[in-house]
Amino acid sequence: MAGKNVPKTVSEVLEHFRPLEQEPDVVEMVREEMNVHFFVDDEAYRHKAWCSHCREWVDLKKSKHRAVTTCPNCGEQGDVIHTWRGYKNLVDRTLTYIYSKSAKSSEDTITARAVYMECRWYQENAQHTTYTLPWDIVTYMAVDSYYVFVYGQGAVQTRPVNNSRHSARFGGAQQTISKSINDRLSVYANGCFGQPRHITLAVDEDSIDEAVKDTPFRYVWDEISGSFTDRGTMRAYIQVFSKIAKYPSRWRRWQKWEALPVIGYTS
Ligand SMILES: [Zn+2]
Repeated sequence: MAGKNVPKTVSEVLEHFRPLEQEPDVVEMVREEMNVHFFVDDEAYRHKAWCSHCREWVDLKKSKHRAVTTCPNCGEQGDVIHTWRGYKNLVDRTLTYIYSKSAKSSEDTITARAVYMECRWYQENAQHTTYTLPWDIVTYMAVDSYYVFVYGQGAVQTRPVNNSRHSARFGGAQQTISKSINDRLSVYANGCFGQPRHITLAVDEDSIDEAVKDTPFRYVWDEISGSFTDRGTMRAYIQVFSKIAKYPSRWRRWQKWEALPVIGYTS
């Protein structure tokens, strides 16, 4: 049974968050996870490219379609797109976990958001006569799910109804309270019709450092940070924090090597 300070409804969950529009830092963290492309739109000037990361026109040393290169301005790596060779299927999707302090009770509560972002780089008008140039493309960004972890009391998660996912084309469904705490990895990583399979999955670990600061969660975080890598990370952190929230006394005693099997993380 969850403690009294664990939110019971979607609106109680949302009280712990500021809207994304008021948090440019969070938006920036999500953008950082996006793939980078260098768009070359003139065959005669193949070394002039627009970098999707710093959004500047730059001079590339080498310009080969789909080859990976580095931006001379911002230093990011990305692939070169010669637009005349076609890039109709170029779609970037990311799901990024960002942690933060609760906007309501920062002393014993931390929160997380899974933010979905989608950029369809090739968009034609309805008559298929023109298309939007890359630098005018608007990126879709929305919070997919919200998590609140109350130390000693439990955790709660909201997600779109029917466990559906966001998309730039259809937006996202209304939020509902999830019966169990889980990551959204599998929902997004599986392809379905009309959706590309590829998605970048990320967790901003620096945001966890900030979120747990001055809360009791920091003791366990100090123990386990850096223990999880790559694909398992997102799932592992969500499970760890929800277990710490629920059973703090057990976690105080445990060391990380005892804790890992408990959350089902084996690699
Ligand atoms: Zn750049």
